[in-house]
Amino acid sequence: MAIIAELDKKAWNRWVKSRPVVVREICRRLPPDRLYRMKSTGQRVTLYSYSEEGSVTVNITGEYNAIVFDRQVFGIDPNDLEECDLPPSDEPIGTMLTEEKDVNALIDSRIEMLHQNGEKHNHARCRLCSARPTSESQSLQKSD
Ligand SMILES: [Zn+2]
Repeated sequence: MAIIAELDKKAWNRWVKSRPVVVREICRRLPPDRLYRMKSTGQRVTLYSYSEEGSVTVNITGEYNAIVFDRQVFGIDPNDLEECDLPPSDEPIGTMLTEEKDVNALIDSRIEMLHQNGEKHNHARCRLCSARPTSESQSLQKSD
């Protein structure tokens, strides 16, 4: 198992004590100085924050994974995390896209692919949806 950060135990314990029971419970199970594996995706993650709803927010970065872009994911079930080792030295790691515009272009192209396949997607962000009025907005215009 990998310890990835130095934790000031005294300060940490003091902080944990000041948190609601739900958070204290997660803090005990998942200290922030470790590397974890998300069982559902296999990605290595570090802890970003603990939520009073009983979930955690994690960082997924190219420091411990081979990924397209670094991100944070919230609402992760603590049961989905298990401590893990550092990536083996022969495993490629890193972040493909580090420029925000490249990340945005990738997200936009994925949304357009979903749009074209008729799958559920983020209409507010979809360039194809905003290119022509939806049937809903057309009928609204008619009733005006
Ligand atoms: Zn669309």
